[in-house]
Amino acid sequence: MSQPSSHTPNGGGHTGTAGGGAAAPNDGGRESPAMQAFFAARQRKNEHMMKMYALALCGLVALFFVFHWTRWLCVRAERSWRPLATLGRPFVAIERFVRNLLVRKVPGFKSAGHALLVTTYVVANVVVGFTNVNTSSKATLASRFGWLALSNLGLVIFLALKNTPLAFLTAYSYERLNCLHRIAGYTMFIWMVLHASLYTTFFSESGRMVTKFKDRSEIAAIVAGFSFLTVVLSATILQRIWYELFYVVHISSWIMGIVALGFHQPVIANKGIIVTLLVASMWILDRLIRITRVLYYSLNNEAKLYPLPNGGTKVIFKKAPARAAAGKHCFIWIPAVRKFETHPFTIYKTDSLEFTIKAQNGFTHDLHQNVVANPGISVRASLDGPYGTFPDPMDYDKIVLIAGGGGATFTFGLVANILERLHDEPHKSITFIWAVKKHENLAWFKEHLETLKSHAHSPKVDVSIYVTRSPVASQHHHHLPHIHGHGLLHQTQSRMSESSSGGSSPPISPTSGGSGSPDTEKMPQLPLHTHAQNHAVTLSEKDLEHGGGGVPVVSHHSNTAENTTGTESHHHNAHGYEHAIKPGRPDMVTLIRQAVVGTPSNQRVLVAACGPDGLMRVVRDTTARLIQGDGPGVELHCEQFGW
Ligand SMILES: Cc1cc2nc3c(=O)[nH]c(=O)nc-3n(C[C@H](O)[C@H](O)[C@H](O)COP(=O)(O)OP(=O)(O)OC[C@H]3O[C@@H](n4cnc5c(N)ncnc54)[C@H](O)[C@@H]3O)c2cc1C
Repeated sequence: MSQPSSHTPNGGGHTGTAGGGAAAPNDGGRESPAMQAFFAARQRKNEHMMKMYALALCGLVALFFVFHWTRWLCVRAERSWRPLATLGRPFVAIERFVRNLLVRKVPGFKSAGHALLVTTYVVANVVVGFTNVNTSSKATLASRFGWLALSNLGLVIFLALKNTPLAFLTAYSYERLNCLHRIAGYTMFIWMVLHASLYTTFFSESGRMVTKFKDRSEIAAIVAGFSFLTVVLSATILQRIWYELFYVVHISSWIMGIVALGFHQPVIANKGIIVTLLVASMWILDRLIRITRVLYYSLNNEAKLYPLPNGGTKVIFKKAPARAAAGKHCFIWIPAVRKFETHPFTIYKTDSLEFTIKAQNGFTHDLHQNVVANPGISVRASLDGPYGTFPDPMDYDKIVLIAGGGGATFTFGLVANILERLHDEPHKSITFIWAVKKHENLAWFKEHLETLKSHAHSPKVDVSIYVTRSPVASQHHHHLPHIHGHGLLHQTQSRMSESSSGGSSPPISPTSGGSGSPDTEKMPQLPLHTHAQNHAVTLSEKDLEHGGGGVPVVSHHSNTAENTTGTESHHHNAHGYEHAIKPGRPDMVTLIRQAVVGTPSNQRVLVAACGPDGLMRVVRDTTARLIQGDGPGVELHCEQFGW
């Protein structure tokens, strides 16, 4: 940020015309009094506008703060004094109408609310960029844009903090802020490019480019510019291709960028350096907290590692961090696998701190290879965390948990969390829906599936499990892996067949409610004969017209129904799981609707989901439409394993 000032010779070379009408510097290179006054006035305007910008951002945070805590208070007040519910009805109706619109997915954004927030942010930037500034002066505009780049850099880092105050203030923890971190990053970069381009044009027009390139602060500006370009490119390109390389490049370029920025604006009176130091300190403090945690939790700690079928690894820590709760996540450090890497994984059990990890191509792959070679091995390990925020499930009467694949780590964590805290609350119920690609994946959570059946409160849990790449049900024998005890992998022979129990029957649709979505593609249709051999299949003419995908009707297993009627004992299928396992993709729209629509209007429903993008889209849109003024209170929480 080139910032000519009355206090330094930095901007001493500006001509009066380009500088906005001020007098030219005198022969000694010193600024004339008119020039000094001009720069001082410009500095004041810029500072004023940056304060306005900071206030606008604080206002946005305050809105979220007020919204979050007002709702929190209202729910508690309503519970302790029922008449409040009647009094507050009109406000509730308005609030639900707004949320119904804001929660929905819109193209290019996670939700309409997200789009609105981003639009507000962009408008605020444009207003601050072009208000109270002489737009006909390139240097003056460049100076304003430089300030905006710096202010947005502060925002970028604030949104990147793992230990962010926003987690407490607004219930948005760092991973949910990551998309805003990116948007702020791109915005900062655009202002920086505009700042540099305008000053470059200005200096070349006034024939002073060569002199400027000899200036140490301008060389620092060029270094900073290229560093931030690398930061942006690494996030845009490298992150998807090679996460570890992205991380190293992203962080080292950012450090280089902020140091260079300090040299670009070294004069305290200009205040740019103060902002730079504040931003750097914020980041360093966050890092120190994280490193201290990892060091602290490495003392007298170790992790036991067990292989799971299909590339899974179970990690059990000896020592858990304070405030660990199922559903939150920690960054795991296992130096025997990777010395300088930590990766985020979701806690799904806290009595012994457990994680279930699916092998990808980097750390998780090496971890799995190690474990397969040494099952049950104990290794030195540590953690940073816990992180993550989600609504307290105990505040709700009905909890609908939906997971796709490994996302079940989150929902199994939540259900365990609820079962632990559940007392005799007859109105409380849980719907647990899980879709996996293969039967083998079920073994990852065998213990948890058993708990869902054997727990004292299991009658309150309605479990639906779907295997989307269901094997052709036949008389063939397959090896089906099972886990025992703490997850040691054993291969046992088991017959692959589908099973069903009696009862009501939600349809399994060939589309998961959002045709053409990525997860739809990942979940191939079952061959017709598979269904036909095992279930009553209902095919309408329309289904046949559309390629015979079919809408097979299979039974829906409900613990509640079984236990209240006493007409059916626990179902034990051919895989050793006591839950009915259904082939094909779940019709999420119908399942969510069924779970929510029957709930009385004086109750509250939490829909919490974790899985691939396509699944999340369907869950988000369906749930948004169910937020109705005259229906039950509906809350949505979407958790995703990535950013
Ligand atoms: C909040 C959160 C909770 C998660 N919980 C679980 C869980 O309980 N179980 C589970 O199996 N997986 C979970 N994941 C995903 C898990 O962190 C990644 O699969 C893992 O870090 C991949 O490591 P890798 O080196 O093998 O990845 P690679 O093979 O190098 O990359 C695979 C994918 O993982 C992403 N990735 C790699 N490293 C990281 C990282 N440090 N942080 C974020 N993303 C990364 C890459 O962008 C890429 O998309 C979670 C992710 C997040 C963000």
